Amino acid sequence: MFALLTMNEVDRMSLHDFTVRGEIRELATVIGEFVQREIRPREQALPPDARCLPDEDVAALQKLARAAGFWNLSAPADLGGGGLSAFDMAIVDEQAAKHTFCFPIVGNGAFGYPPPSILYGASKQQIDEFVIPTIEEGWRSFNAITEEGSGSDPARSIRTTAEKKGGKYVLNGRKMWITHADKARYGVVYARTNLNKGRDGISAFIVDKDTPGLTIRPIPVIRDLWTNEVTFDNVEVPADRLVGEEGEGFAIAQRFLGKFRVHFATTAIAVGEESMRLAAEFVKGRESFGLPFAQRQGVQFALADAHVKLKAARWLTWEAARKHDSGEGARIESSIAKLYATEACFGVVDSMMQLMGGMGLAKEMPLEHWFRDLRVARVVEGPSDIHRFVLAREILGSAALPRRA
Ligand SMILES: Cc1cc2nc3c(=O)[nH]c(=O)nc-3n(C[C@H](O)[C@H](O)[C@H](O)COP(=O)(O)OP(=O)(O)OC[C@H]3O[C@@H](n4cnc5c(N)ncnc54)[C@H](O)[C@@H]3O)c2cc1C
Repeated sequence: MFALLTMNEVDRMSLHDFTVRGEIRELATVIGEFVQREIRPREQALPPDARCLPDEDVAALQKLARAAGFWNLSAPADLGGGGLSAFDMAIVDEQAAKHTFCFPIVGNGAFGYPPPSILYGASKQQIDEFVIPTIEEGWRSFNAITEEGSGSDPARSIRTTAEKKGGKYVLNGRKMWITHADKARYGVVYARTNLNKGRDGISAFIVDKDTPGLTIRPIPVIRDLWTNEVTFDNVEVPADRLVGEEGEGFAIAQRFLGKFRVHFATTAIAVGEESMRLAAEFVKGRESFGLPFAQRQGVQFALADAHVKLKAARWLTWEAARKHDSGEGARIESSIAKLYATEACFGVVDSMMQLMGGMGLAKEMPLEHWFRDLRVARVVEGPSDIHRFVLAREILGSAALPRRA
């Protein structure tokens, strides 16, 4: 028997109105102009081996962005941010991310640094002490979940412990691949407070980077922004730095995951779209064997396929954003959007590089940089196969899981 579309699915689809408000359209246009006028020329002036914008450029851009009203647009308005919804941010970020160093923070920090999203569920004291200065003053932070064991399954692989001793927790263990730990002021560290409770034994702590016993070692990777190993050797953290209750680390983080995945997918779409535009310009101005590239069907079809993939990625991302904004939770939709957008846009950038030949690979163009960033994007924020695993469980239910003896 073939199943018909259920009424539930029909209702859910009608929920998704992709109308873009006029003021958001305008904001996306002016922020896109800002990026092309202020950020791109600074990036283009850097030597080919530059791995990010220099701190003084970021500081100058931050001043301009604040004055223009582009500061921390996604953070809640009552905490000093712009208060834009996930859907509004998907529209704005697609224009804001059309520059080289846009992963993992659009603008390379020019528009501010978002706090670790779990802290939106933190106590009032923690919000005052960490979240508001992060939003207002541009503090940098890190998020330390992954360890040496399988990062795909952090609930089982986290070995870092946090033992309560009087008014403190004492942290011991080692985190791997931690982005921004080297430049951050503080981070959120996930550690085990109960050895017997699996996922519910993991708690989140706010830890100052300069706490004695915390050491950082860079890990060079394929992308220009390297990551870090962070080691905790009897690191003492005041008890009031625990986020929520003991054992609630993952449950709180989960509530804010959707918006970040939408942001990640949007960045992938932005660079895919910009790669397609650059390749289209390139093929219009070049010929071989007596015909312009633009008249070759092989070239036309590569562009047409890129166009379809980008549109599909955008619609899936907008669906996830709308669902997140509706408050229903977008665990599945944001998994689909992140999986599809990063895989499809990696393919788009690769195929546009091919159309551009040597120019596609040259450091003076941003494509090779995006290619490396998107290669990383297929592993971080859940590797693609983990999103497929989540979706398969949704389709197959318990039949997808190994039988217990
Ligand atoms: C550049 C970079 C930046 C990062 N930044 C951070 C950060 O800031 N904070 C942080 O906490 N972590 C960070 N990470 C870690 C990242 O989240 C992990 O690398 C990722 O979760 C995968 O974990 P792993 O590397 O241990 O791979 P593993 O868990 O060993 O998995 C390896 C591969 O096995 C496959 N696989 C695993 N399980 C399954 C399954 N059930 N079904 C099918 N296939 C499966 C997947 O293809 C996966 O890619 C970063 C990693 C990198 C490379």
